[in-house]
Amino acid sequence: MKNANRNVIFGLVASLGVFSGCLQSTNQKRGDVNPASITSEALASDSIVPVVVLGGGVAGLTAAIYLAQANIPTLVIEGPKPGGALSQSHAVRNWPGAYNESGLDIVQKIKNHALVCGAKIIQGHVTAVNLRSIPLVFEVDSLVDGKPMSIKAVSCIVAMGAEPNFLNIPGERGADGYWGRGVSNCAVCDGFFFKGKRVIVVGGGDSAVEEAHYLADIAQSVTVVVRKGAFRAKDIRALDRLLARKNITVRYNAQLEEIKGDGSRVTEIRLQKQGAGRIEHETIKADGVFLAIGSHPNTDLFKGQIPLDERGFIILQDHQSTGVPGVFAAGDIADPFFVQAITAAGDGCRAALQVKRYLESTESVLTSSLPQKISERCVRAGVVEIEREEEFKELVQQSKKPVFLDLYANWCFPCKRMVKIVEKLANDFADQVSFVKLDVQKESLDTEKLLASIHGRAVYSVPTFILVKNGREVRRIDGSRDYEILKKIIETMLEDQKNLALVG
Ligand code: NDP
Repeated sequence: MKNANRNVIFGLVASLGVFSGCLQSTNQKRGDVNPASITSEALASDSIVPVVVLGGGVAGLTAAIYLAQANIPTLVIEGPKPGGALSQSHAVRNWPGAYNESGLDIVQKIKNHALVCGAKIIQGHVTAVNLRSIPLVFEVDSLVDGKPMSIKAVSCIVAMGAEPNFLNIPGERGADGYWGRGVSNCAVCDGFFFKGKRVIVVGGGDSAVEEAHYLADIAQSVTVVVRKGAFRAKDIRALDRLLARKNITVRYNAQLEEIKGDGSRVTEIRLQKQGAGRIEHETIKADGVFLAIGSHPNTDLFKGQIPLDERGFIILQDHQSTGVPGVFAAGDIADPFFVQAITAAGDGCRAALQVKRYLESTESVLTSSLPQKISERCVRAGVVEIEREEEFKELVQQSKKPVFLDLYANWCFPCKRMVKIVEKLANDFADQVSFVKLDVQKESLDTEKLLASIHGRAVYSVPTFILVKNGREVRRIDGSRDYEILKKIIETMLEDQKNLALVG
């Protein structure tokens, strides 16, 4: 995406709402597509963004920063929980450079950073994906106005995170719950607040063992509640060391029934224990409860399209690659192990750099068979290329004939597809209409000012075609169209401009 003009490309992103029904049904199997097999036809069929980042958490936003700084137009789709998991943390002490800041503040800074760099962020719920062919297609319901959008992209970074599992017991979450006020699922994040206190760890896996070790170094006492008669943790040495620690107690065959508090903090928990043929209840004084009962990644949409492990996490291949061409993953959705904001950020950075490499390889393949400079061909075909501002006045504003103005950019694949169509139109209407091309990236031209001179608004996507009559814009067509549709629009303009809006 060399020399990409951000404003124009972001305009292209903004016009994505015009796509509809473009989920493709294809027989192509995963792995069939590689950059070398992507056809220009596929990419030229409509407006396509270079990269979509799914997820507005630390991983996705960090990726967006790197992508936007590399001048790659980047669209981030932020889900219903902006900021992702980190935004749930009330006080973060392990983010480099921030000590005791709220997760929300940290994520907001990262988001602002991504926006300042030029990333475009929209709020949407992704309802379907098709990663089996290029372009990749994403069906998204806007969270702003509920409208569905169909977004096409050359590549994507999946960074939709994982949802921690919850016990769903009274006192855990909700208005009367103690989530963030003593109940947590991250000892590394929140353990600091329990210096010298009594804490509960729930779970019998490796995470529970690890959390308990971490907390045992800080808290006065740690009670681990295991719902079965044994731990399931695989790291037996770590487990043995844990069980040998003086301030560790384990309650086997036990489940939390309720977390109680004084309204502002946790004070005790109620346990249900499976005794010899009977159920017992026990109340234990506690200041904090750490849940380590696993998590489930947000990968339902990707089943059958991206390799997932038995728990649904994305299986990564080489450096954030999912093995599906153009599809990379970052953060908790592909990492059940570290689950830290800083590792998610690192993943996001790696994924962005991978996308950059992928787009570079893709672009060279796509452009090799296409005209390198649209203007070189169009001048030959009778379409005049505007080089200087004065020419616009002469060729468009003061033209005696109606004008078909083609706004394009050299990086734009759909624009390249339109070259032949515009040439044919220029040939067919040579006597009646002037065909003029304008490269919106050309530094010597102020496109906005030029369009204002024909009473036209600014251009936000390419290709855009503007019909000009008597020095005024009379019709605008955003995005590529078939020859027949454009022909009809031109014919209607020549007959009666009032009917123009009904065509195309
Ligand atoms: P796991 O799925 O391995 O363990 C979850 C634990 O939570 C189990 O003991 C499970 O009980 C318990 N649990 C689940 N739901 C409930 C419930 N509703 N009430 C009570 N208990 C419940 O998740 P982890 O996060 O521990 O580990 C995930 C993966 O990451 C594993 O593969 C693990 O090995 C790995 N890991 C490795 C580490 C290391 O090697 N240092 C550190 C952390 C993770 P039950 O056993 O009865 O099903």
